[in-house]
Amino acid sequence: MSAPASFDPRVTPISPDELQGRVILITGAGAGIGRAVAESCAQHGATVLLLGRNGRQLNEVHAQITRQHGAERAAIVEFDLENALANDYDALFAAIEGRYQRLDGLLHNAGLLGQLAPIEHYDVPTWCRVLQVNLTAAFVLTQILLPLLKRSDDASILFTSSGVGRVGRAYWGAYAVSKFALEGLNEVLSEELSGITRIRVNSLNPGATRTRMRRQAYPAEDAASLPAPQSITRAYLALLGPASRGVSGQRFNGQ
Ligand code: NDP
Repeated sequence: MSAPASFDPRVTPISPDELQGRVILITGAGAGIGRAVAESCAQHGATVLLLGRNGRQLNEVHAQITRQHGAERAAIVEFDLENALANDYDALFAAIEGRYQRLDGLLHNAGLLGQLAPIEHYDVPTWCRVLQVNLTAAFVLTQILLPLLKRSDDASILFTSSGVGRVGRAYWGAYAVSKFALEGLNEVLSEELSGITRIRVNSLNPGATRTRMRRQAYPAEDAASLPAPQSITRAYLALLGPASRGVSGQRFNGQ
């Protein structure tokens, strides 16, 4: 069954076992929104592959999921999206294939803010790092994992966008450009995969959320006025799970 045309992941009902049996990889799963979505996916039955560059944080998330849902529901993938080389990607593919044989979900959540500065003065090395982590790594990871996603009956790829990836805003530099590009990748990939695979591809702007990145971007803001990451996970579950079957190439808001 396909999702209705009016599909809105913010209000989609989610059952307790919504993601039962699914294997879902989440980048940037050690903190912020990625951690909250990983814990929520595990709570709803998924096995989550926690990808990040900080082993201590990933261990904490892994321990939390293991305590609540069992050790088979999470695995750690220590991986630096800024510096990974071809053999690192190949090893990642082999590890997932060896243990799970397939992948049912891929959430590109990891991101770098870079600096807030006018294009005229934007630091070139920072530009390259932000584009590498936010965009190029998402492209390479998708490409390398596509064969595993094709083996799933109902796979979902989800890109994380932003308000400044949909309407340009002064001083958001490489971050905004990377999010615009992810929206483009979303549309290109969705069209390429539709009809010939069961993989859907969408983008989600989580909206203002109380995380380290938000603090970095808006240091003077009252963080208490923002929703916690744990309270915005519903749209992620809807887009990663069966509720969004048949929905592809679209852009959504999480709040
Ligand atoms: P955080 O900074 O809390 O989390 C970002 C995550 O990305 C961290 O786990 C971080 O790991 C990881 N990451 C960064 N660089 C790398 C790397 N080289 N390799 C692997 N992992 C890396 O931010 P949020 O949770 O707020 O952001 C999550 C997503 O949501 C981002 O894509 C962001 O653009 C988007 N977003 C957030 C909004 C908000 O208001 N919070 C609004 C709109 C969009 P580490 O801890 O090691 O740095």
